[in-house]
Amino acid sequence: TNFTDLGLAEPLVRALEAKGYETPTPIQRDSIPTVLTGRDLLGIAQTGTGKTAAFVLPSIQRLAENAKRVLPTHCRMLVLAPTRELASQIADNARGYAKFSKLSVATVFGGTSINKNRNDLSRGVDILVATPGRLLDLVEQGFCNLSMIEILVLDEADQMLDLGFIHALRRIVKMVPRRRQTLFFSATMPSSIRDLAAQFLHEPETVSV
Ligand code: AMP
Repeated sequence: TNFTDLGLAEPLVRALEAKGYETPTPIQRDSIPTVLTGRDLLGIAQTGTGKTAAFVLPSIQRLAENAKRVLPTHCRMLVLAPTRELASQIADNARGYAKFSKLSVATVFGGTSINKNRNDLSRGVDILVATPGRLLDLVEQGFCNLSMIEILVLDEADQMLDLGFIHALRRIVKMVPRRRQTLFFSATMPSSIRDLAAQFLHEPETVSV
């Protein structure tokens, strides 16, 4: 199986070739076709399995297929991650994969200038990668609007709960349109995570690696 067989189109396959990736990892093989259909996904996978590409690649394709101009302060896809390190890693990956797809990527996390975040979001952005606390600050100050999100990703959901982001997550999900695609990843599946996934996802496909 190669990436074309999974349903990915030329701009993404070219970006993958530029990185030297030819063969999908198991989580990519199982997730990409499902995400391309628009279905929700519950992914049980650790870092290092290639899960970032598993959610970023098909999401980019869906956003690009349904090209839309994003309004000021809005975004079309929101990726929530527990730490600034993971958020910036996801954003770097997304920029690489979106290289031939004309989509913009921004990242916001705590400990950096909120004025820079405000500036980065002012024209709107296709893909926003954020930590939950900083994102809520930006929303509350009117610098970020979540009402046009088409794809919501929660990455390392177990870590986000461990870091105390449960209330922030609930508040964010309330502001995102009900009609959306949700992709939920966690390395572990204790009952607290399973309950949260059941609340946020609609008839998900489950993929476990
Ligand atoms: P992740 O689990 O998303 O943190 O990815 C782990 C590492 O594997 C990252 O450095 C990716 O760039 C790399 N990677 C992702 N997909 C592939 C692939 N299909 N082939 C080779 N390397 C990959």
